[in-house]
Order: sequence, then structure tokens, then C-alpha cells
Amino acid sequence: MWNVKIITAYPEMFPGVLGHSIIGKARANKKWSLNVINLHDFGIDERKSIDDNPFGGGPGMIIRPDVVEKAVMSVTKNIETNMPLVYLCPSGKSLNQQDLVHYSQDEGLIILCGRFEGVDARAIDSIGFKRVSIGDYVLSGGEVAAQVLVEGCVRLLPGVLGRSESVLEESFSKNLLEYPQYTRPQVWVDNKKEKHNVPDILLSGHHDKIKAWRKKRSIEITKKYRPDLLKKT
Ligand code: SAH
Repeated sequence: MWNVKIITAYPEMFPGVLGHSIIGKARANKKWSLNVINLHDFGIDERKSIDDNPFGGGPGMIIRPDVVEKAVMSVTKNIETNMPLVYLCPSGKSLNQQDLVHYSQDEGLIILCGRFEGVDARAIDSIGFKRVSIGDYVLSGGEVAAQVLVEGCVRLLPGVLGRSESVLEESFSKNLLEYPQYTRPQVWVDNKKEKHNVPDILLSGHHDKIKAWRKKRSIEITKKYRPDLLKKT
């Protein structure tokens, strides 16, 4: 079973979105499992501190390397694991769909969520965490980022989505964005009394033509919004 271990100063933030809908059901159906490790259990001194001021000055607090190491050892001791270790941070490699495919094919993930100004760099390097970012912006902690990463992986696990084809057809799967999708009503009259039809081809029942139209629209949309993706193919 695909197993996720999340090391966080805010264990109460989990499972969060991971407890609901398809991802939550997949957990109940034992497609994946979640262990949440509280960094505060490994705090030092009588105050159980997990952080301290940055050397060299500056604002905020940094999570201590010894605390992180103890938390990691608590999950890796007594188990033979080659699980990838991921530290979520803005300065990491930008996460993409291909990364999710790789992680979902591994045995699981050990994820470290930062808080405050981040984590002592020595812990990340010496323990061997891979730095991963969910985008070029700064959040106040790694917990939401961890939920993004795990949700993206779990939906790729076998048997989680109803029809496995749906994963093959979606955005980024072939460096293309998805074609537009439509449902009922066939003619939608909006609030301004404007009529909107569904493209005729989709009502034709002609599967090959529909496939070709979708491919064409995918390419057009990708050219318009994400031309960088086309360069990768
Ligand atoms: N001082 C850091 C930002 C710390 S933000 C810097 O300038 O790079 C606090 C924590 O939020 C980080 O340790 C990280 O775990 C999480 N975080 C913030 N933005 C993130 C992002 N884009 N991707 C992944 N994690 C992020």
C-alpha cells in the first residue's frame, strides 16, 4: 500500500482535504495510508522547542536540524525503506505531473513540512531530502503544499479513479492542456439571455471526428496559454 509519512508542527491540519471525496475514500479502501508525525514530540529542553533564531540575524525562526533528524529517525528506524524524502520549500524543484507519476509509482513518500522561515539547511542536505516547490510563491507552511503533492499522487494510484483512461487524457499527460468539456443543458441560456450551444461535432456521435477535434482544440489551447509545454514535446 502506498504510504505517506508527514512530519509537521501542525498535525491537526491533516488529513485536511485528503480526508474527503475520492482521496478520502481511497484511504478508507486501503489504497494508501497516512501517518502524521508531530515535530513537537521531538522538541528539545523542558520547553520542547523545535525552532530557534537564524544565525546571521534576520526575522523569523528556523526549525532545528536535531529535531528534524529525530522525527525522521522515528519513522525510518526498524524499516527498510527507500521511500523518497521530500522537503517542501519555495526554493525546490517545481513540481509537475511527471514528478507525481514517479512518486505514485514508488512505495510512498516521507514529507517534511516547513514553518516559520524554514528548516536548517544542514538537516535537509545531510538527511538527503529532495527540495520540492509547488510553485513560485510563498506560503506560510508546507502543510497545504503536502496536501497538494499527496492528492496529486493518490489520484494516480491504480483503482483510485473510476476509469483509468481519465488519467491518460487529462492536462499535462502529453504536454498538452485538456480540450474544453461540456455537459447538459445542450443549449444554455445565461443570465444575460445569451444562448450558448455545445460544439456540433460533440453531438455527432462520430468518435473519430470527436477525437480529432479534441486533439486540435488541445493543441490550440496549449499554444495560447502554455506554449512552453509544446516545446517539451
Ligand atoms: N524563508 C523561506 C520561506 C519560508 S515559508 C524562503 O524565503 O524561501 C515557510 C514554509 O512554507 C517553508 O519552509 C515550506 O515548507 C512552506 N512553503 C512555502 N512556500 C512553498 C512553496 N511554494 N512550495 C512548497 N512549500 C512551501
